[in-house]
Amino acid sequence: MPLLDEILNYNESFVEEKAYEPYQTSKLPDKRMVVVSCMDTRLVELLPRSMNLRNGDFKLIKNAGAIISHPFGSVMRSILVAVYELNADEVFVIGHHQCGMSSIEPQKMIGHFKERGVSNDTINTLKHSGVDLEKWLSGFKSVEESVRNSVDMVRNHPLLPDDIPVHGLVIAPDTGKLDLVVDGYDR
Ligand SMILES: [Zn+2]
Repeated sequence: MPLLDEILNYNESFVEEKAYEPYQTSKLPDKRMVVVSCMDTRLVELLPRSMNLRNGDFKLIKNAGAIISHPFGSVMRSILVAVYELNADEVFVIGHHQCGMSSIEPQKMIGHFKERGVSNDTINTLKHSGVDLEKWLSGFKSVEESVRNSVDMVRNHPLLPDDIPVHGLVIAPDTGKLDLVVDGYDR
């Protein structure tokens, strides 16, 4: 059965059997916090479990690498929405060890684009219109440094209120152990 059908089939009984009931909550985070983390599969359940966070406790923003790369990109906008409109009072940036973004090779990925049918013309057109693909696709060497950079970006954002602590942590994707990189209360 195709995945979509499998999901829709399952969903029908999920709703019918009211399996959603344990998850019902409001859109405001009970623990008044917002987390930025990586899309890594190992963290899907492990991250909240290891922090004692449940449905309704926190706002969760995810991308590849837990990287906040632009002060006016969608991640930063989401943080501001969480803070100003949804009662989040603390920000947690949580990278992880063995992150795919620490070993990503932009040149190789551009090669993969081409293997999957993206033409050289398209790559060149993007380059000529000012898209630095290599920079855009590059990750980080040190996850701690990346977390620190993202924390700085949030903390120094002109639109973030001064009294919002911004913490930086790194999680182990096998054990869930958290290492503190930036204590946002230290400011
Ligand atoms: Zn990752």
